[in-house]
Amino acid sequence: MTTDLGAQDLTALLDSARQDYSELAGRGLKLDLTRGKPSPDQLDLADDLLTLPGSKQFKAADGTDTRNYGGLNGLLELREIFAGLLQVPVAQLVAAGNSSLELMHDAFVQALLSKLPGAESRWVDAGPIKFLAPVPGYDRHFSICERFGIEMIPVPMDENGPDMDLVTRLVADDASIKGIWAIPKYSNPTGVTYSDEVVRRLAEMPTAAPDFRIFWDNAYSVHHLTDERVEIADILGLATAAGHADRVFVFGSTSKITLAGAGVGFFGASEANVKWWLSNLSKRSIGPDKVNQLRHAAFLGSAEGVLAHMDKHRAVIGPKFEATLRILGEQLGGTGLATWTEPKGGYFVTLEVPEGCASAVVARAAEIGVVLTPAGATHPLGQDPKDSVIRIAPTFPGLADLEAAVQALATCVKLVGYEQRLKQQ
Ligand code: PMP
Repeated sequence: MTTDLGAQDLTALLDSARQDYSELAGRGLKLDLTRGKPSPDQLDLADDLLTLPGSKQFKAADGTDTRNYGGLNGLLELREIFAGLLQVPVAQLVAAGNSSLELMHDAFVQALLSKLPGAESRWVDAGPIKFLAPVPGYDRHFSICERFGIEMIPVPMDENGPDMDLVTRLVADDASIKGIWAIPKYSNPTGVTYSDEVVRRLAEMPTAAPDFRIFWDNAYSVHHLTDERVEIADILGLATAAGHADRVFVFGSTSKITLAGAGVGFFGASEANVKWWLSNLSKRSIGPDKVNQLRHAAFLGSAEGVLAHMDKHRAVIGPKFEATLRILGEQLGGTGLATWTEPKGGYFVTLEVPEGCASAVVARAAEIGVVLTPAGATHPLGQDPKDSVIRIAPTFPGLADLEAAVQALATCVKLVGYEQRLKQQ
């Protein structure tokens, strides 16, 4: 372990990292590891969607003409495919437009402006409200709270999910805490899957706010990277059994199943919540894009069809995750300069570097043409108090580019890490 090294050895390691860095600088790299987007090869897997449902094929199973207005809660045959996968009874699952993030944003706006079931007032009339933000987490969740001036209270994640002792204590006493963000499976960015115990505690815990909501963003419900198709406990069922049926808003989408820009988003919740949702929605829309929903139902066929399709994604992106982990191991293993996650699914690897180093690593990488997600993006307001978390998104680049980018990233970690360690000697 290089943590025990003296100044002379550290200087030699730093010199070698500097040499690698200037060699990389001369290569004119132009690589991007920022956003968790599917690669063109993955999008090609859904190419048949571009010819579906086909000429004259516009009728749903119940005879609905999908070309016309109506059907606010979405096409039944598609909701049937996803109900089990998202653990929501089919009657309580709404199929919508192409983005679940849009639905989360909408849920916030509606809760601010229109009293939720169980609420004493609209959120906008409730005084300053707060949300719990498990960290590291998803920057776009945090941006929604930021946009509406909602204070976020960071809650540390461990390998089982958010620190539930802290969550339970906070929500029991403070009625201004109106909810919590949750990415329960293969979380963005850590890959963590919530344990059954964490899910149960979230479902059962007493909350001071009668209108507390869990924003259950199950974005990676079927996005497996190993043979183990990880399952999570049924939050909506557990909350309902505990007398808190209205506590849960479930979100999901086919963005990373079919086409990220032309998929289908889903909202699921209790009967009362769905009624509230549809009543608000009816002022905003005369019905979703049912033609898109019909072609999705035709393309995916069944829940088994979804899982079989996800195996094809795994064949494309599995090798990219393997390459990322292999290079991190080869370059940084045993240096004491970094730890990283080994996700069983999802879209990200989280790299943790010594405290105070993440922004410098990202900056040094940018100088040689490797763009990373900004350091801090995994925390509310873009502020990682330890400046140590870097999110790696391996899916979009081709394998050769990805390998070059991760090699360059590892070089930057060594450069910044050894510099810091020498200074601290
Ligand atoms: N939630 C999470 C956790 C995500 O990682 C992403 C995409 N990066 C989204 C939601 C966005 O989903 P959609 O495309 O359905 O809006």
